[in-house]
Amino acid sequence: MSQIDGLPPLSEVIQTHGLAAKKSLGQNFLLDLNLTAKIARQAGDLSDCDVLEIGPGPGGLTRGLLAEGARRVLAIEKDPRCLPALDEISQAYPNRLHVIEGDALDIDPLAHLTPPIRVSANLPYNVGTELLVRWLTPRDWPPFWESLTLMFQREVAQRIVAEPGSKAYGRLAILAQWRADARIVINLPPEAFSPPPKVSSAVVHLTALAEPRYPADAATLNRIVAAGFNQRRKMLRASLKGVAPNIQGYIEAAGLRPTDRAEQISLEGFCALARQIKPVTT
Ligand code: SAM
Repeated sequence: MSQIDGLPPLSEVIQTHGLAAKKSLGQNFLLDLNLTAKIARQAGDLSDCDVLEIGPGPGGLTRGLLAEGARRVLAIEKDPRCLPALDEISQAYPNRLHVIEGDALDIDPLAHLTPPIRVSANLPYNVGTELLVRWLTPRDWPPFWESLTLMFQREVAQRIVAEPGSKAYGRLAILAQWRADARIVINLPPEAFSPPPKVSSAVVHLTALAEPRYPADAATLNRIVAAGFNQRRKMLRASLKGVAPNIQGYIEAAGLRPTDRAEQISLEGFCALARQIKPVTT
């Protein structure tokens, strides 16, 4: 019995339900319930929130979220082998855990959630970045979520919080930092997982801002950031050539130098350029 909830330890759950990890599903499980409770706490007070969890697996983080008081957890899991283990957790926390079997990329969770909503997940590596980009680029802002607390490979986590001038700085940093506060809250070595992955991991906590940090048209900003970083070694006047006629004039009007490279441009600078190309009307 574990101390946090009286359910069996995760190693026993994995054995009982035959949950040998599948690489194709990015299965690296967390077995230490003290650690999963610590990750759950990074999402703040969950007692008034619904929590969306992607990839609960045998339920380590799920148990952490419930033990830490989440009002309700909606968990989406692709591997049907995990469902009996998750069902045991549902029974221990009546009416607080709802599990959907399926691919998180295909399921719209909103029909099953009541605001306020926070997201907490140890993401499968193969879909983690795609989900993050979707959550950061909804049609309307503010998004459905108040915060995202997500485990990534450390290299991806560093790209999310990266600053101009660093190697990790790119599209992910701009997307994340334009409309959210993002910081790394926990670093984890490979040994924290079973089986241990090849690389280290980190938990990133993102809080949605009520408004974007600087005004800009989302599609225009996205276009210049994608073009700029697709050819990150080129000067802006060359990498952004296809974005608009007379791009050099726009770059100068935004107070930037046409000879700068995308990796030198701050978020504020990209937003100023986006406003030159397409003014934002309020
Ligand atoms: N949350 C568990 C933990 O922390 O131990 C498991 C994390 S493991 C890194 C990723 C989980 O995501 C696995 O259980 C895997 O089966 C599941 N998964 C992989 N691809 C998925 C997808 N497209 N949709 C939903 N779940 C997925």
